[in-house]
This record gives sequence, C-alpha cells and structure tokens, in this order.
Amino acid sequence: MYLYNSLSHKKELFQPNHPDIVKMYTCGPTVYHFAHIGNLRTYIMEDILEKALRYEGYPVKRVMNITDVGHLASDADTGEDKMLKGAKREHKSVMDVAKYYTDAFFADCDKLNIKRPDVVEPATNCISEYINMVSTLLEKKKAYIAGGNVYFDTSTLEQYYVFNDHNEDDLAVGVREGVEEDTNKRNKNDFVLWFTKSKFEDQALKWDSPWGVGYPGWHIECSCISMKHLGEDLDIHCGGIDNAFPHHTNEIAQSESYLGHKWCNYWFHVHHLNTNGGKMSKSKGEFLTVSLLEEKGYDPMAYRLFCLQSHYRRNLVFSWENLDNAAAAYDKLIAKIAVLNGDGQNVDQTAFESMKERFVKALDGDLNTSVAVTNLYDVLKAKTNDATKLAALADFDRVLCLNLIEAATQLRKKNAEEEAASADPEIDALVAARTEAKKAKDFAEADRIRDELKTRGIEIIDTPQGAKWRKV
Ligand code: AMP
Ligand code: ZN
Repeated sequence: MYLYNSLSHKKELFQPNHPDIVKMYTCGPTVYHFAHIGNLRTYIMEDILEKALRYEGYPVKRVMNITDVGHLASDADTGEDKMLKGAKREHKSVMDVAKYYTDAFFADCDKLNIKRPDVVEPATNCISEYINMVSTLLEKKKAYIAGGNVYFDTSTLEQYYVFNDHNEDDLAVGVREGVEEDTNKRNKNDFVLWFTKSKFEDQALKWDSPWGVGYPGWHIECSCISMKHLGEDLDIHCGGIDNAFPHHTNEIAQSESYLGHKWCNYWFHVHHLNTNGGKMSKSKGEFLTVSLLEEKGYDPMAYRLFCLQSHYRRNLVFSWENLDNAAAAYDKLIAKIAVLNGDGQNVDQTAFESMKERFVKALDGDLNTSVAVTNLYDVLKAKTNDATKLAALADFDRVLCLNLIEAATQLRKKNAEEEAASADPEIDALVAARTEAKKAKDFAEADRIRDELKTRGIEIIDTPQGAKWRKV
C-alpha cells in the first residue's frame, strides 16, 4: 500500500516495523462537547485506513486517547481549559462531562460504522506515565521549569518544524487573538509538559507531581499513551491536519528526545471538512452532529458515503445540497443491489478476483476511496452473475462499511411487504386475462382490459418478468 507521509511529503510504500503487528495511533476526541461531522470525517477516514490494512492481511493494533484533561483553548498552551469550559456551560463536573461526551462520541461512531480502536485510554488514566516522561526530559536537559510549569526546550532540537517550513512568524497562528502569550517560555516554540500555574486557578482535576500539584499538557498525552500500549516505536500516527502543528510537531519533539531515536514512521493527516464559513470547529459553538443529520432524515450511511466520495487529502466542503446528492446516490446504490438475486448460482472466482484486484489497487493508491466507491458501480455493471456481484460487494464492504448488503436486504423485504400489502386478486386476474388476450393476439380485448384498469386507477407495467401493476 502506498500512503502519503506528511513527514516526507510524498507517497511511500507502507512497510511496518514488525511483521506481526502494525502499530497505529489515533488522536482521540476532546470530550467537552459533541463530535461534529468534521471531526467524524477524520475518524471515518482513519477507520478506512485501519480496515484497509486489515483487509490486506496486516494485523493492526490501534490505540486512541480520550482527551479529558490538558487541552487549552489555544493549541499553543494558553487560554481556558476546554473541559472546564464544558463543565461550566453545563453546570456539571468535568468527569461527568467527559463521560457524557465520550459515550456520545462512541454512539456517533457506531452509527457511522467507525470501529472502536483496540485500546481506548482516557488521558486522566496515565498520570504516572506523564510524570515519568517529564522527569526523564528534565534529566536529559530537554526541559526546564519556569514560573511553576515544566516546559519542553525546543532549542535542544536540531529541527523542530518537521512537517512544514513554519517560521517564527507563522507561530502567531497558534496564538489566538485575545490569548496572552506565556512569558515563562525561553523560546517561542517551547510548550508545556506539566502545568502547576495556570491562569485558571480553579482547574478541576489536579494531581501531585515532583513539580507541585498540577496537570499534564495536552501534547504529552499522546506520546505517553502510545508508548504505554505500543512500545517505543510506532508505524502510523493519525489525526486531522490541524493537529500537525503544533500538536504532532510537539509529540515528535518530546517522544524522540525521550527515546533518543526515531519514534513514528508514517504520519497520516486527514484534511478538513469546511463549510462556506471555513473550518467546522467545536469552539465556534455552531456545528453539525450526526444526531442532527438523523433528525433531518439523513441515514448516517449517506454521510459516510459523502466522505468516501472524496480523497482524505482534499478539503471537503459540506453543504446540504452535497449531502442530498450523496443520500440520493446511496439510495440508488442500495436499490440496485436489492434487485440482485444470486440464489442457486456459483460465484465466478476469476471474475471475483479481477474485481477485487481493482479494489485493492484503489486502496493501495494512497487510500483512494472515491475510486473504491466507483468500483462498486463497476461491480454492478460487470458481465458476471448476481452471486459473484453480491460476493464482491460484501467483500468490499468489509472496508467501506456502508451496510450495503444489510440495507439491500432490508429494502427487498420492505418492497415485498409493500407488494403483499397491496395485493388484489381481482386485479391480478384482470392483468392475467390481458396477458392471455395478448398471447391470443386479441389486442382489442387486451386494450379494453387496460382501459378498464386505468379507469380504476391501476397502471400496467410490462417487464421482462411479465406484466405488473401499480396504483397511480
Ligand atoms: P478534537 O476533539 O477537537 O480534539 O478533534 C478531534 C479530531 O478531529 C482531531 O483529529 C482533529 O484534527 C479533527 N478535526 C477537527 N476539526 C476538523 C474538521 N473541520 N474537519 C476534519 N477533522 C477535524
Ligand atoms: Zn494527539
């Protein structure tokens, strides 16, 4: 599989460090609010990556954190704590807010067929791991204490901006308007490993540490949780593109300084879901959730298809019109699958393998999900029997997870039920009499029956399987 690696800025052949495991880490949600459909775009695409790897035979172990502490309003470590903001908004405790939105996040993931990672670790579970890493960084003189906080010293690095060519001025982007700069920092890029002094003295969750009672910085969570469950090396680290700087840049700085060697080989970044007003963001307060899409009558699978129709390295613009198109495409796709009938047929292995080969090629080309979706239509059009088509669709859906077979089975059942509910033996008899008249070339009689049915509001539809009727 070729994957674009943000670290090298090119597509690279994916080669895991170990033959028996692919170590994958995902930055989890900050659970102070519902996940919006932009966040979920990132999780859908990461889910596809994991499933594509598994589909191609890689044994994956995937770990994800839940950010329930340490994430401040600005990714540059200043401003209000996001969890505290959620707790104030809802008049609940931070832990209650964390539990509520963690459960809500996984409920949304279930609706979108996003598999739960093998390990899910709340950041508040790993305090001793953070203290251990911070202590080592201090011993190695990679960190310093100032104003009560422990900071990572970026001047000890040969290269800090590993993903892009940021310069000092660009850093202003991370320091948002109205947020004061931290004067304890020796270098502008330095970041907090452990807080004891925050502008917000009422920080809800604090722990004892060698540097005083306090709480961890956001970035250190991911380094420590990854190492706790995956060891000292990592194959793929995933996240939204906004995480590349400063979050992932800081993760690399502290992890590699701590380990003394390279940490993660491939960085997989999903680009944003935007609205006309720009990036969809939780902090702006106005955003769309999966529940809201459902309230408006959309099947969450329509949103999953919407995401799969575009490449993960392109910004995706959300509009209701675009979602309507995806929903219509999904319904059409399911309707086409629902009419397939492979009963009593054998799967043509040669045809199956050649369709599968094209599907794998799409996945291997930097996870080209839009081509993989097109492959579904190619299967439907293929010159092979229905059993083979159904087998290929079910197989591809192990990765795409669009509920193709289940939704088609349900639709078939619904259609059959509707047909049964509208059954009318008298009309059936008239339709059969018309068919007989046609066979006997008594076209006058056939037309008379058709006209009679028409006056009763019944339309006859001639199909290759015989004449059918429907109420108009
Ligand atoms: P958060 O809960 O804010 O920590 O974000 C969870 C994940 O969603 C991270 O990987 C972010 O990079 C990603 N993310 C945030 N906003 C967007 C967006 N508009 N589109 C896609 N991914 C996003
Ligand atoms: Zn992270």
